[in-house]
Amino acid sequence: MKKKTQFIHGGIVGDEKTGAVSVPIYQVSTYKQPAPGKHTGYEYSRTGNPTRHALEELIKDIEDGERGFAFGSGMASMTAVMMLFRQGDHIIMTDDVYGGSFRLMTKVLNRFGLEATFTDTSELDSIEQEIRENTKALFLESPTNPLLKVTDIEGAATIARRHGLLTIVDNTFGTPYWQNPLALGADIVLHSATKFLGGHSDVVAGLAVVKDRKLGDELHFIQNATGGVLGPQDSWLLMRGIKTLGIRMEEHERNARSIVEFLAHHDQIKKVYYPGLEGHHNHEIAKKQSRGFGSMISFDVGNREKAEKLLTKVRLFTLAESLGAVESLISIPSLMTHASIPAERRKALGITDGLIRISVGLEDSDDLISDLQQALDN
Ligand SMILES: *Cc1c(COP(=O)(O)O)cnc(C)c1O
Repeated sequence: MKKKTQFIHGGIVGDEKTGAVSVPIYQVSTYKQPAPGKHTGYEYSRTGNPTRHALEELIKDIEDGERGFAFGSGMASMTAVMMLFRQGDHIIMTDDVYGGSFRLMTKVLNRFGLEATFTDTSELDSIEQEIRENTKALFLESPTNPLLKVTDIEGAATIARRHGLLTIVDNTFGTPYWQNPLALGADIVLHSATKFLGGHSDVVAGLAVVKDRKLGDELHFIQNATGGVLGPQDSWLLMRGIKTLGIRMEEHERNARSIVEFLAHHDQIKKVYYPGLEGHHNHEIAKKQSRGFGSMISFDVGNREKAEKLLTKVRLFTLAESLGAVESLISIPSLMTHASIPAERRKALGITDGLIRISVGLEDSDDLISDLQQALDN
């Protein structure tokens, strides 16, 4: 089945009992048991809820995995996955991972003795150099935020497997429509479903999909034991979002290409970052491992003053954190999403003060370009 069809017919479809074509919202915490110790498959909604289960089956299908899990946020899904490890374990991570992922590893999980090293995984050589005796996993994000750096997922997973490490991929930017890390050799895929999967800026959620049954059993144990589950209302909203993921991603990308074209030829712009650009680092790898390049674009206007000015002038781009929704969003990473990263580290990563990130929405691209044009020319 192709992706667009899977989004609509994957997982659990509708309601057997009534024929309702949409999975009902089971707003319930507990389930009547026919006899002590016997149950209908559901006992308590932290352990399992039919609406959440339908979503978990859907994400499992669309990422071609063995088992899916839904959590209260992207960070909750990552936290649960990190609970697969133990004190003293070491994890190698992409150096410009999402700011919240960096914070979780360096300010929270470090307290429990989980170590993380950050390296430029877009160069495969740098991964091997960081492997130690206690290294247990490789955590990748590709493309990254905000510089859209691309890691060769298949190449990295091959290195990981050779050293007995798990490969975990944050696929939030790629989305299952464009990129399927499990098929490229990863063991676990994570999503901030708050972004493209939800797609309408109305739900905060996280998803995880694992490739084998044993990992699935372990992660379900952790999901139930730690409890960061997604509620039934939000599970339903997310399923609704996923139904249109294919057509949304196609249109997001079409708009993004037009805007990249415009930005690349504008004399006020110092540099444009987009994996679909031929000159982009690892463009060929992006082309090989993804079916599309997404709708996240970053560009450098030179300095903070110019960046802030542009943000006050745009009318259709909403000044906000987050991404992947129907409305176009604009932000200055150094002041917003990446403010929690120390200035020195930001500089080392190349996240300059004049860097602007846009998440291209589903408005008409002519209007979006006119908006950027007037903001840049003023
Ligand atoms: C937003 C985001 C997260 C965190 O997800 P939440 O749903 O906000 O907790 C993780 N990774 C990436 C790439 C993100 O964009």
